[in-house]
Amino acid sequence: MSKEEPAIPNSLLEALRTAQHLVVLTGAGISAESGIPTFRDAQTGLWAQYSAEELATPEAFQHHPRLVWDWYAWRRQMVAAAKPNAGHLALARLEHLVPTFTLITQNVDGLHAAAGSRAPIELHGNIMRVRCATEETRYTTWSEEGALPPPCPTCGAPLRPDVVWFGEQLPVIALERAWTAAATCDVMLSIGTSGLVEPAASLPRLAYNRGATVAVLNLDVTPHNEERLYLLNGQAGSLLPALVAALEQQG
Ligand code: NAD
Repeated sequence: MSKEEPAIPNSLLEALRTAQHLVVLTGAGISAESGIPTFRDAQTGLWAQYSAEELATPEAFQHHPRLVWDWYAWRRQMVAAAKPNAGHLALARLEHLVPTFTLITQNVDGLHAAAGSRAPIELHGNIMRVRCATEETRYTTWSEEGALPPPCPTCGAPLRPDVVWFGEQLPVIALERAWTAAATCDVMLSIGTSGLVEPAASLPRLAYNRGATVAVLNLDVTPHNEERLYLLNGQAGSLLPALVAALEQQG
């Protein structure tokens, strides 16, 4: 851990050590150190003229399907080349240190599963899958030969990335599981998320209002500690290994 990053407060470690149900919510920030840009990062190269918010919508796909398909193909290539970083790996260790652990992610990159986390709840889908824009059938393989977006093999409607776009509903079962976990946990860590995209942004508030200890690990926050609320400023790839190592040392 670099010198300017805060130590993990002992009272937070104590809350984690005695937690019965720990919930972790992650956002794009945890994958930034794997080289996957967050939505708020400036787009680069060919894509610099668009904001992510302009491309990740059902309207964009309806009006410019090829443009949106190509943008996701570009993101998919980045994801395929990415490896889990120290933050993802630390979370995979953390789940073995508490009786009940729930990992909820807004990320679509699959890096938590690649790091060894069991059954992360993917609130916003997974970029490595596509689904039929009409009948919702999901596919993990498809052809890039011929017309793009490729047609659904069953009905011919365009295939689209199996991700949740701005303005779309989240998968009901995943959201219910996330909501129940947040409402019943005793500690929640919110990592690398700007807290701007609902309903995920409400999960830490729900946990806090139900009496849980909440710790936010993010590059954007001003460090702050009070009873049951910790704001830790730093990189997930540094803070999380330090936190997990401290818990493992305490045994
Ligand atoms: P966001 O882009 O809104 O916010 C990312 C947050 O992470 C910022 O607050 C930033 O300060 C922080 N951050 C950046 N690097 C960090 C680091 N190394 N350590 C700790 N914090 C760091 O992302 P969001 O809150 O997840 O919400 C936006 C939406 O973007 C989500 O719906 C998600 O599906 C989607 N998205 C996913 C990916 C992915 O799968 N990797 C990438 C981009 C966007």
